[in-house]
Amino acid sequence: MIVWEAHACLPLHPQADFAPIDRLRAAGVNYVSINIGMDMNPLSQVMSVIGGFRATIAEHPERYVLASGVGDIESAVTEGRLAIGFDLEGAMPLLDQPEMVALYRDLGVRQMHFAYNRNNSVAGGCHDAEQGLTSLGRRMVAAVNEAGVLMDCSHTGRRASLDIMAASTQPVIFSHSNPLALVEHGRNVTDEQIRACAGTGGVVCVSGVSGFLGTRTPTADDVARHAAYVAEMVGIEHVGVGLDISFHQEGLDDTPPGDFDATYWWPKSAGYDRAVARMTYTPIETWTLLAGALQRTGMTADEAGLVMGDNMMRVARHVWR
Ligand SMILES: [Zn+2]
Repeated sequence: MIVWEAHACLPLHPQADFAPIDRLRAAGVNYVSINIGMDMNPLSQVMSVIGGFRATIAEHPERYVLASGVGDIESAVTEGRLAIGFDLEGAMPLLDQPEMVALYRDLGVRQMHFAYNRNNSVAGGCHDAEQGLTSLGRRMVAAVNEAGVLMDCSHTGRRASLDIMAASTQPVIFSHSNPLALVEHGRNVTDEQIRACAGTGGVVCVSGVSGFLGTRTPTADDVARHAAYVAEMVGIEHVGVGLDISFHQEGLDDTPPGDFDATYWWPKSAGYDRAVARMTYTPIETWTLLAGALQRTGMTADEAGLVMGDNMMRVARHVWR
């Protein structure tokens, strides 16, 4: 079994400490996708973060490998290393150029979505007026498919996500999204979106974030309950986990430079109290408790293994080239 953490956030700072990533490895994680930028981050910050993270990974070849394919994950498991990929949250750092997708892939980006909560020139965000995929967006989907990057729809608006899933020739994932039927929140996804994702052969990875799980102190059982809902509706092969733990670090300010308005990106009207910092996350140890929690929902040990990572391995084997 491969344990796949579909989304985690270090401070967006080149000197971010990878200690939390080591703790994920100690908790049994084999592959982690780390955020390297969102729509609110200027290109200078995104590039600085990629440079810093790549250097940290390269300095510790005994601990990490920047995965360029599933073979790197499989060998990392036998060598006791952690495989890492980067993810991009939003299309704005692509500068309206589809050919930028392959450049990010070459820098280690293995997964991307197009709109971080707000609308942009490529797609609609989940906390904005409904806007589908634009004509530029259609070219972007083709570029993501062509580059062998995982097409993600978290944070994306409903109409845009349905457009993306219809346009993509490859399986599409939600890397950190929970069912709206269980918790009414704009970041959560409808049954229609979940069915469309499964229809592409993709995976809905449920998060461990308090506001999206509908609990103040989220546990492995809360994550398992949301995973079981998706499994019940579209089948066990379409469920994964992206806990979305955000590791803040003292002294590392990663606020975007300039006039940054957090209430624009995380609007109060959508249930955010000033900033996402008020959200709480499941602890890293959730990964050691999850197999048991999933089985308490009625899954077999093998089914829990599919949810914890084997489903994402299947999709990556198909998409990454
Ligand atoms: Zn996110």
